[in-house]
Amino acid sequence: MSSVTCQMSSASCIFCQIVKKEIPKDFVYEDSEIVAFEDIHPVAPVHILIIPKRHIESVNELQKEDRELAGNMILAAKGLARKLKISQDGYKLLFRTGKHGGQEVEHLHLHLIGGAKLYEEIRPI
Ligand code: 5GP
Ligand code: ZN
Repeated sequence: MSSVTCQMSSASCIFCQIVKKEIPKDFVYEDSEIVAFEDIHPVAPVHILIIPKRHIESVNELQKEDRELAGNMILAAKGLARKLKISQDGYKLLFRTGKHGGQEVEHLHLHLIGGAKLYEEIRPI
């Protein structure tokens, strides 16, 4: 097994349900291992989530064997940024991880955020 998979959590995982089309959602990108779709609560004109089809909880659960997957998620984000014409002005890529990282959905996801100049606020609550 190349990474931690949990059938219990994947059954109730909202992003697994989106991958399986149990919750209808248009994909802006799809390949054999990744899908991408718009965030339901966008914080900027472009806000896309790039996720692995396989249930992986967070960056903490990534294994060495997942390095190609992780790299492909970043390359998918780059490709979407170019397609959506935000490459030149730039964008933010964000992996929230765990409680202190503010991760709310426990299925690995990469935020692609752009289309406007973004505030940078990183401080303890
Ligand atoms: P996190 O805080 O875990 O990094 O980000 C989770 C993101 O998932 C949030 O930006 C939230 O708006 C988004 N989200 C949560 N539930 C859904 C959903 O059902 N559909 C979509 N498209 N986005 C969701
Ligand atoms: Zn999942």
